[in-house]
Amino acid sequence: MRPEDILVPTPAGVCCKLGAFHIDPTRPVERALITHAHSDHARAGHGAVLATQETLDLMRLRYGENFAGSTQAAAYGESLALGGAKVTFHPAGHVLGSALIAVEADGLRVVASGDYKNVADPTCAPFELVPCDVFITEATFALPVFRHGEPGGEIAKLLRSVALFPERAHLVGAYSLGKAQRVIALLRRAGYDAPVYLHGAMEKITRYYESRGIALGELRLVSGATKQNLAGTITICPPSALNDLWTRRFPDPLAAFASGWMRVRARARQQGVSLPLVISDHADWDGLTATIAATGAGEIWVTHGQEDALVHWCGTRGLKARPLDIVGYGDEDDEPVSGEAEA
Ligand SMILES: [Zn+2]
Ligand SMILES: [Zn+2]
Repeated sequence: MRPEDILVPTPAGVCCKLGAFHIDPTRPVERALITHAHSDHARAGHGAVLATQETLDLMRLRYGENFAGSTQAAAYGESLALGGAKVTFHPAGHVLGSALIAVEADGLRVVASGDYKNVADPTCAPFELVPCDVFITEATFALPVFRHGEPGGEIAKLLRSVALFPERAHLVGAYSLGKAQRVIALLRRAGYDAPVYLHGAMEKITRYYESRGIALGELRLVSGATKQNLAGTITICPPSALNDLWTRRFPDPLAAFASGWMRVRARARQQGVSLPLVISDHADWDGLTATIAATGAGEIWVTHGQEDALVHWCGTRGLKARPLDIVGYGDEDDEPVSGEAEA
């Protein structure tokens, strides 16, 4: 059996003919296995969806009750037989509920990683290394320039700024699923115990994290606060809100943005971010290359991001590698804030 007999790239995403399913399909399919709930991986409109309970719940929160014909929850570590294939979900360390999906047949194991990070995160289960023959990796930050460093140092930078400018409001742009909750949890770990304010678009998902036992301390909605109340506070908002009229309700707002992209200064400047915070939910260059090596896989398939650099690196290590060229995966998701946003 060849790896392509287990998983084959198609325009709709990788497909397992043996098990009659796709992983993270970008178009509606009969049966989808979903790695995590970011909108480029988890789309509405599939027949049957198999994913972790958290991913199913988050999809339901975003897309409504009827986001799929039927759903089935997969627990981490539990193997299921689908047709002639065995599938197992393992923690990917990316966001709450995120999973690597291992697909096995005939003694050959292919692991589809979705997005992952091999760095501690208080808001989700830690990344689990799964030895395999073929590893399908993301490549969002697959350039040697991307080295993310310690998130604690970035949080300290934010807290220093808050102490320095007690009359200003600090706005922290963060993706609404995963990054927002991680930034709050990191603030709490750093000893920050004042209320953290939320943009309305963050509320549902953040409350869901709390319902899964992730302690985030006292949270308040911006919509309930006056301008004076907001002096000296920290508010978490979607990145797109940083350049919005919405910011006028804050006293002398100072824009921060928590993202792996903040390593690129020009990008921070372009987006009007005065306090870039390099906090990423994706593995950096060292994380990607270390993980690839540790899986023991002899063959690497590379998807969404800087495929070329990672394929090249694999070549220098004697690993067989190819880009998958699947259209439709982005770096992370930042949906328009209009619908969910407060009035
Ligand atoms: Zn993601
Ligand atoms: Zn992704």
